[in-house]
Amino acid sequence: MAKEDLECSFCGRKKPETNLLIAGLDAHICDRCIEQAHGIVLEESKQSDNSDLSAELMLRKPQKIKSFLDEYIIGQEATKKVMSVAVYNHYKRLLQPPTDDDIEIQKSNIIMVGQTGTGKTLMAKTVAKMLNVPLAIVDATVLTEAGYVGEDVESILTRLLQAADYNLEKAEKGIVFIDEIDKIARKSDNPSITRDVSGEGVQQALLKLLEGTTVNVPPKGGRKHPDQKFIEVNTENILFIAGGAFDGIEKVISKRLNMQAVGYSASMSDERVDQDNLLQYIIPKDLKDFGLIPEIIGRLPVLTYMDPLDAQTLRAILTEPKNAIIKQYKKLFEMDDIEFSITDGALDFIVEKAIEYKLGARGLRSLCEEILTDAMFEMPGSDDKELKVTKAYAEDKITKTTLKKLKAVS
Ligand code: ADP
Repeated sequence: MAKEDLECSFCGRKKPETNLLIAGLDAHICDRCIEQAHGIVLEESKQSDNSDLSAELMLRKPQKIKSFLDEYIIGQEATKKVMSVAVYNHYKRLLQPPTDDDIEIQKSNIIMVGQTGTGKTLMAKTVAKMLNVPLAIVDATVLTEAGYVGEDVESILTRLLQAADYNLEKAEKGIVFIDEIDKIARKSDNPSITRDVSGEGVQQALLKLLEGTTVNVPPKGGRKHPDQKFIEVNTENILFIAGGAFDGIEKVISKRLNMQAVGYSASMSDERVDQDNLLQYIIPKDLKDFGLIPEIIGRLPVLTYMDPLDAQTLRAILTEPKNAIIKQYKKLFEMDDIEFSITDGALDFIVEKAIEYKLGARGLRSLCEEILTDAMFEMPGSDDKELKVTKAYAEDKITKTTLKKLKAVS
């Protein structure tokens, strides 16, 4: 057969009418048919992805969710439990078949209060990883009211779309983690009354997203302008998790507890208040007294707190989670056939310094980095195939100057 007479076995186009004709055993396929088939494959896999999600979710009960979180997050028992239930209920709401009993399950958006570095972001990341749903992490401090310099609140959804590879269906079932929500609290002593750039205006703009609405989102981010194409995103089934340090909220809690103690003297004062961890007594009213508007608090109905990290927790964070820092270094060295080990003394020393210099969990990584950089620089390619980090080795690498430097950047 002449070359020109060859045709696509799917659409019948002759070779000259195609850009490309690929030969198989007994058949040919043209570029157009390949593209069409590719589209079908994508569509099909999207559908099976979604049914996978439902199947997965039906299987994972709250206790299962918590065990998954346990693998990655040390401590924070209260939050892990609350989170497991909230996430379970959220996705149950999503999967519920339409009923006619008028009972509408409301969203279980979550707010986590806890010092920085206690694992709030990690919590959101781990939940998203477990559910295999897209996650957008946004910082509330960059959000401004429309019209001001900064990012519009809709930019949150642009991020989520990007995280979902622009698969709208996936994005609409994703998770948004809004960090530093406390920074948009209305400050009663705000000197600028007319220009509340990142305060109540942003809270108002967030309200709608949290509750569930349809928003026109510029897919590539940036400001909205008339000739830009938008993607319509419905936030009804998006789970919002907010986090914040709420510096100083302990005072609000303590004041309330004291007042209660006076009010109901006998019963309350009998109960011992753990002064070192006042966050555990937090109630929505404290958030209001801190400056969040009641409507926002109402749309983040699940309130939970993070415990401060003590030495024992920090020590466990170094070695226990599934992707613990020490396990990561071990793997890195292994790739160069280097056997890496670290003694208990050295681990205790790292924790001790992290506490002494108030470096928190994030500091653990910086300390390890300081200790191991020389070895990671010198050992690959050398004949040295064993590295044992002892307390003395660690002490040698960590000087007062490095600690001060780490403290300055933490
Ligand atoms: P936050 O969002 O509260 O500021 P992150 O989640 O970013 O804190 O945590 C900072 C670092 O510390 C992360 O690398 C995380 O892996 C680690 N970390 C913090 N708390 C824990 C914890 N409870 N368990 C395991 N790792 C933790």
